[in-house]
Amino acid sequence: MFTADRLKRAADQLLTVVDADRERMLADSKSLFERLEVNSSEPPPLPVSPVYMMLAGLALENLLKGLRIAIDPKLIQPGPKPPYKMFPPPFSQHLDRTFVAHTRVTLTPLEEDLIDRLAVFVAWGGRYPVGNAALDIKSVSTPAGERRAPAMIYGTDPPMINRLFNRLRAELGNATDARRSIVSQEDARRRQVCRRELLENLGGAAYERIESERVIHFRIRDSSAAALNEPGSLVLCCGCGASMTLNSAHPAALCRCDILYHAVPYFNAAVGREMLDVKEYPAE
Ligand SMILES: [Zn+2]
Repeated sequence: MFTADRLKRAADQLLTVVDADRERMLADSKSLFERLEVNSSEPPPLPVSPVYMMLAGLALENLLKGLRIAIDPKLIQPGPKPPYKMFPPPFSQHLDRTFVAHTRVTLTPLEEDLIDRLAVFVAWGGRYPVGNAALDIKSVSTPAGERRAPAMIYGTDPPMINRLFNRLRAELGNATDARRSIVSQEDARRRQVCRRELLENLGGAAYERIESERVIHFRIRDSSAAALNEPGSLVLCCGCGASMTLNSAHPAALCRCDILYHAVPYFNAAVGREMLDVKEYPAE
């Protein structure tokens, strides 16, 4: 969403230049029509409206891809051929009307036409005078059944782009919130399963249970003196204020608010030594 906002902001900045270009062209046409002299003998600067359309199209492409991922995050994984491509077609390509069919977004015929035209500017119209394939520049039908060039810009495009962008952005926000809620529920369920398994294991003969100030520490019975004295991770519970030091000899503790803290050693390549990853498993 942030990259979509960035692209849209850049497009909007360019829109002020597009508007100034249009005002100047209208003034020049009026002068010619009234047989007055055109203000400047210099050739007018090249219009930047195709670049505006390209950036606006990329912003919408970004939102549509975000919506697709929010619907099915499993889409993002290394493909078999080639493995470094993380996104399957058609989403590995640029903006296309077929994207929309995969995102549960419904468009009016005018919005569909807008997406088709923006797709042309993203593909080539915003960057080159012609497309790579000869057929790219053949005329197409409008929703009203007329023929027009594929890279066409209308004065009504910017407000329609704004409305569509805001709508898709809001839908992406809702889809992201819904996905976040699903992920957090799945995470809570996973933590409950892990907590039950860990407590079962920590209650076994291999562990000694030591209670101090209503905090229960679990110590491995056959730990060596060196392991018992090794530095560990200091854990401070924000709920009950209990502080617990976990290390390889004391791998777990239950705080006063019944959160199980469990430390797992892992090798941190960045610092070149083994460290502890402490996870928390609250009670249901
Ligand atoms: Zn606590």
